[in-house]
Amino acid sequence: MSSSNDQLTLRIRRIIDFRDARDWKQFHNPKDISISLVLEATEVLEHFQWKNKEEMEEHIKKNKDSIGEELADVLYWILLMCHDLKIDILAALDDKLKKNEQKYPVEKARGNHTKYNKL
Ligand SMILES: [Mg+2]
Repeated sequence: MSSSNDQLTLRIRRIIDFRDARDWKQFHNPKDISISLVLEATEVLEHFQWKNKEEMEEHIKKNKDSIGEELADVLYWILLMCHDLKIDILAALDDKLKKNEQKYPVEKARGNHTKYNKL
């Protein structure tokens, strides 16, 4: 059985193979990849624009596949950028989670949305 790290590596390989088969690396630089990442994130946001809590819940029920597709688009650009910049995203995530655990200690942050510098 393969680890989740192996699974991630396979997906990154698939993304890069997809790009290489189309000779698109020439269009990819950190700025334009970042723009693509943000544009895809706004497509996630678009699902919820102008909806109140009840409307969002209903929308999620009916559009889970489409929302998942937009989230996959965001992840695609994240993984592509991590590949190109040689960033180990799982290690970066682990480091960031550790920092967040320190910035937001449970005893201060539980049930409280105040930013860490105001806790
Ligand atoms: Mg999209």
